[in-house]
Amino acid sequence: MSAIVAIVGRPNVGKSTFFNRLIQRREAIVDAVSGVTRDRHYGKSDWNGVEFSLIDTGGYVLGSDDVFEAEIDKQVELAIDEADAIIFMVDVESGVTGMDEDVADLLRRVDKPIFLVINKVDNAKRAQDAVEFYSLGLGEYFTIASINGSGTGDLLDAVVKVLPEKEMEQDDLPRFAVVGRPNAGKSSFINALIGEERYIVTDIAGTTRDSIDTKYNRFGFEFNLVDTAGIRRKAKVKEDLEFYSVMRSVRAIEHADVCILMLDATRGFDGQVENIFWLAQRNNKGVVILVNKWDLVEDKETNTIKKYTTRIKQAIEPFTDVPIIFVSVLTKQRIFKAIETAVEVYNNRARKVQTRKFNDVMLPIIENNPPPAYKGKYVKIKFCTQLPTPYPQFAFFCNLPQYVRDPYMRFLENKLRENFNFEGVPISVFMRKK
Ligand code: GDP
Ligand code: GDP
Repeated sequence: MSAIVAIVGRPNVGKSTFFNRLIQRREAIVDAVSGVTRDRHYGKSDWNGVEFSLIDTGGYVLGSDDVFEAEIDKQVELAIDEADAIIFMVDVESGVTGMDEDVADLLRRVDKPIFLVINKVDNAKRAQDAVEFYSLGLGEYFTIASINGSGTGDLLDAVVKVLPEKEMEQDDLPRFAVVGRPNAGKSSFINALIGEERYIVTDIAGTTRDSIDTKYNRFGFEFNLVDTAGIRRKAKVKEDLEFYSVMRSVRAIEHADVCILMLDATRGFDGQVENIFWLAQRNNKGVVILVNKWDLVEDKETNTIKKYTTRIKQAIEPFTDVPIIFVSVLTKQRIFKAIETAVEVYNNRARKVQTRKFNDVMLPIIENNPPPAYKGKYVKIKFCTQLPTPYPQFAFFCNLPQYVRDPYMRFLENKLRENFNFEGVPISVFMRKK
């Protein structure tokens, strides 16, 4: 789990330029709701070995200045709720604006590390101009030029210093996060599981300020439910609720081993659910899909489940080796089956295949279906092994790794999945030179 750093500031100060410079892997969180188009970005970055997630909360809004104002308040509130540190970016070219002052007013009251960053400081004259930003009452500032990266090193040194330490896991229990769109039934599900107080063993305050793990022990299952208490403020309008819930998911996903992705059967596996699915996959977390409110689906022949499953699998290709369970939290139908499956996925993710066994299975398959010649070169795969990582990664050693193409990598992954149980778990396959 990595800490979250949010960038706030009015449009055009250079937030996206800064963001793009820093991140390596981008996860777009995009929502387009009723006339308001915004494009919010979330990505991973790394500075001096400290990994963190960076959010550019500053959506791009089409509309009047009034909309901007309200929008910026919301960004800042979001950052305040969800981030471990906040970068407040301003622009030396335009100097202090009213909107900057409004944001500063909000931030001065916040008990989180705030970094005032003055961007576009490309020359010495501008470095002098920057002093006017003391008037924002936020104290010391950093001057940078996002466009060429100058000053960003000092800034990042300071930022990673205040981030919470990588947490020590408190126990070896599986950590499950229940994620999904608002109204899917997540709280009801959690309440159904932990409703009776006597079954809750302890509340362990996570090392991250806002997250709480609830230890659960019942019917032979023992695990931690990862919840984020981050959302105290009630989102005012629907699209905010949506974004809050995605942000909340981001946090919970990073913190968990297995994500229980819940959707409302009557709404289906839509783009927003898919977003969350890929977030889990790219973070190498296990996934179980729960199709909830199955009680509301009237036509329940066996065929209905089959059709529904097919539709979901099409949406999640090529990572289709994922359990899909049809549940009703209301009637408690299959909710324990859901947990049982999450435990299985957790075990699959922890699975270590012995090297000998792995080679015995995979080498004959490779022998019968060697990588096709590419640019006249023949690849000879000699042996393979699982890497000692917290989630499944496999290396195949060969003479010419760069000549093995994607379709063959997928073939290997499929064969691997056919022969070993990695249901619900993203796996990575690499070619290495030998
Ligand atoms: P955002 O709306 O805050 O995300 O701002 P953008 O990243 O889109 O940048 C707005 C404009 O400022 C773009 O034209 C950038 O090229 C420009 N810009 C960003 N950083 C710098 C910088 O360090 N120096 C200068 N001179 N221009 C910059
Ligand atoms: P959350 O926003 O994902 O936490 O969703 P909630 O748990 O608050 O549930 C949203 C609404 O769906 C509530 O009115 C629940 O009573 C209802 N709900 C949850 N699960 C079920 C279910 O299995 N069947 C039906 N019919 N309603 C459900």
